[in-house]
Amino acid sequence: MKTLKDVLQEAERKKVAVGHFNFSDLVAFSAIVSAAHELNFPVMVGVSEGERAFVGVRQAAALVRSVREEYGQPIFLNADHTHSLAKAEEAAKAGFDEIIFDGSRLSFEENMVQTKKAVEAIKSIDPTILVEGEIGWIGASSEILEKPPEDVGVLTTAQEAKQFVDASKIDVLAPAVGNMHGLLQSMVHGETEKRLDIQRIAEIKAAAGIFMTLHGGSGTHDEDFQQAIRAGMTIVHVNTELRLAWRRGLEHVLHAHPGEIAPYKLLPDVVGAVSEVVRKRLRLFNLR
Ligand SMILES: [Zn+2]
Repeated sequence: MKTLKDVLQEAERKKVAVGHFNFSDLVAFSAIVSAAHELNFPVMVGVSEGERAFVGVRQAAALVRSVREEYGQPIFLNADHTHSLAKAEEAAKAGFDEIIFDGSRLSFEENMVQTKKAVEAIKSIDPTILVEGEIGWIGASSEILEKPPEDVGVLTTAQEAKQFVDASKIDVLAPAVGNMHGLLQSMVHGETEKRLDIQRIAEIKAAAGIFMTLHGGSGTHDEDFQQAIRAGMTIVHVNTELRLAWRRGLEHVLHAHPGEIAPYKLLPDVVGAVSEVVRKRLRLFNLR
């Protein structure tokens, strides 16, 4: 079985990206697994601290392991936006493939110090785990927002990226390049879309020289996704779009079957709704 590093190297070479999708229940998990299986693409699944608290850290790891073992599917588990060393170590011990230590709310200097510590702690548990660090502020919640969070829009510079990577020894970098977590109301129906600074992505990639992740992919212009991937983004995160499809799918099926109470009869429709979003994104991220 290929490791996550193998899969990322291959994606980087082909100038495609590995789709990363979050889950917090079996509906979203099954939707992601079935879409990736059908299209035969490697995929990453992520659980944030909040999602992990609901799913269970070891339970998330067991789910991913079971899919790998049963189907030989290249699926990898990421501890998304981890804010403490204790939670990073917990995920490392449970067998996660990647851990994002997110110190983006700290000062740049403090973020470097804390991320370096996290890299050392995680690698001492398992040196094969990839550690991602994050610089710049792109908001924190994968929700529908009234307005952009304060201070979003300041972009990472190539110089900051290089300094951060050199000091922290991370494997993967998440910069701020016009991306943002969550969706604005105007993006829900596609009246507006997120636009990325492609030139900046290329500069940061050249300076940092490591894998990069585009966070907050939901609602991004299709062409910008493709150009961002060609410019150096090897992992692309999508969460809010899945949550939106989950909610709409659930409302629709409950409304259509007011007397039905068996979850396994109602929820396949919701799996289908979420899966459609994942398929669409995976196809786009893997276009060559
Ligand atoms: Zn993120």
